[in-house]
Amino acid sequence: MKYDIAIVGAGVVGASIAYNLIPYDVSVLLLDKNNDVAMGATRANSAIIHAGYDPKPGTLMARLNVEGNRLCEKLCADLSVPFKRCGSFVLAFSDDEKNTLQELFERGEKNGVPDLRILDAEELREMEPGIGEEAVAALYAPSAGIVNPWELCLAQAEVFVRNSGTFENCAEVTGIRHEKDVYTIDTSKGSFEASTVILACGIQADSVHGLIAKTDFQIIPTRGEYFLLDKSEGSKVNHVIFQCPNEFGKGVLVAPTVHGNMICGPTSEVLKEDIEDTATTSAKLAEIKTKAARSVNNISWRDNVRNFSGIRANSDNDDFIIREIPGNKGIFEAAGIKSPGLASSPAIGPYMVELLKASGVPLPEKTGSYDMTRKKIHFSDMTNEERARLVASDPAYGRIVCRCEGVTEGEIRDALESPIRPCSLDAVKRRAGTGMGRCQGGFCGPRIVEMLISYADSAACPCGCTKLPPTYLSILQDAEGSNLFFTRETEVES
Ligand SMILES: Cc1cc2nc3c(=O)[nH]c(=O)nc-3n(C[C@H](O)[C@H](O)[C@H](O)COP(=O)(O)OP(=O)(O)OC[C@H]3O[C@@H](n4cnc5c(N)ncnc54)[C@H](O)[C@@H]3O)c2cc1C
Repeated sequence: MKYDIAIVGAGVVGASIAYNLIPYDVSVLLLDKNNDVAMGATRANSAIIHAGYDPKPGTLMARLNVEGNRLCEKLCADLSVPFKRCGSFVLAFSDDEKNTLQELFERGEKNGVPDLRILDAEELREMEPGIGEEAVAALYAPSAGIVNPWELCLAQAEVFVRNSGTFENCAEVTGIRHEKDVYTIDTSKGSFEASTVILACGIQADSVHGLIAKTDFQIIPTRGEYFLLDKSEGSKVNHVIFQCPNEFGKGVLVAPTVHGNMICGPTSEVLKEDIEDTATTSAKLAEIKTKAARSVNNISWRDNVRNFSGIRANSDNDDFIIREIPGNKGIFEAAGIKSPGLASSPAIGPYMVELLKASGVPLPEKTGSYDMTRKKIHFSDMTNEERARLVASDPAYGRIVCRCEGVTEGEIRDALESPIRPCSLDAVKRRAGTGMGRCQGGFCGPRIVEMLISYADSAACPCGCTKLPPTYLSILQDAEGSNLFFTRETEVES
């Protein structure tokens, strides 16, 4: 089939572009090399909706960060995505660093960040009592927030699919050819044709660009490692707490997550060999402990739930690269989308749509109706009265499967029936929030695998990356390298 527009890369940027094309009467294909959306930087980052004082004034990054922050709250409300405008601090530990706060303040004013203030030590500790003793002042940005990053991506992609968009997973782009106004995209799953192509490939942005044009920028994949601490630690901070930025980026932060945990990190390490290596290392984790302890007192590292890392698509260009590729009419890209790419993403989709229009890509408005919202049940966030009504209408919401996070059978079923069907245990986790707690799926894993198997076409990804008839063994190993705790046999014996 030939599409009007093909988007390569289903991270939060590709998903935002797909979502913002819903109002137009065009056929759109979103494809990704992985077996789900949000499998790149979008699933492993700090989850901060930055206020926008960090990027240089006048850059596209500054403009899209502030605009993305502004759009995020309504977007998340429309899509039932957890978001909290909790505000952020940048701490100064010395008089020298107070000057940095002043610079950030002035930059933020130029970028249009609302309500910035510099706080003295006393006011800072009134607002955040656990702040480390060394802090002498802080830049306060009340517009900063926290979000569930993979759900922001997933929700936009789901609504896109529900509105007749097409998502193809496990389709790694290996070639792009241009003949007579048609682009042919060769993938590991066959070829697709489109009149217009948009590349949103994260750390692969330069190599995928190189399939069609001479590359004029270079991605510098930079790994960041994290601690994710238990909910017992999450209540120790109420704001996102940064240190002053340095040549390696925004530095180590301590922040609450929308799920109520505490996140500490990231480190910054350029990857020279395997650019997709999301390992964590004892050296870098030790670095986080030392740095985070300066920001917040008494972090209990033994309450660590898990460590993870994500890879930034830093580039040798000091700004986002969002454009029609010079000399290649009809092919566009969003490249070098490093932090604050997540915060900017709600504005990147609309910006790309404007670029398409300006270039003459036909985008007739839909005449029929369409719905850009999504309703999702988050049982643990409901009041007891709401829960009782829900359980009375559907008893599946009355059966808790994930005890750590209080996720019900009904929510897991919703995930399994969602517009982009999960085909791995981790994909269910990203949709339903199962296995996110202290036991990391040790208890609920087998039950969820059983449910996954009962949705046969969910468990069997067409590309064969999960297999049927599955044993627990094949699902847990083949999906995403998840830890193997159970097999069907051990379940039967017990
Ligand atoms: C450690 C870290 C911390 C961060 N913290 C923040 C933060 O707090 N706030 C913030 O605003 N931003 C943050 N960011 C940045 C933010 O995560 C990214 O800017 C954002 O997720 C980029 O989204 P994307 O869609 O461009 O890339 P990705 O999410 O990486 O998506 C790219 C997609 O392209 C696909 N792809 C690549 N090559 C191919 C191919 N050949 N064929 C098919 N598909 C392909 C990949 O599979 C992937 O799914 C952070 C990033 C990292 C790594």
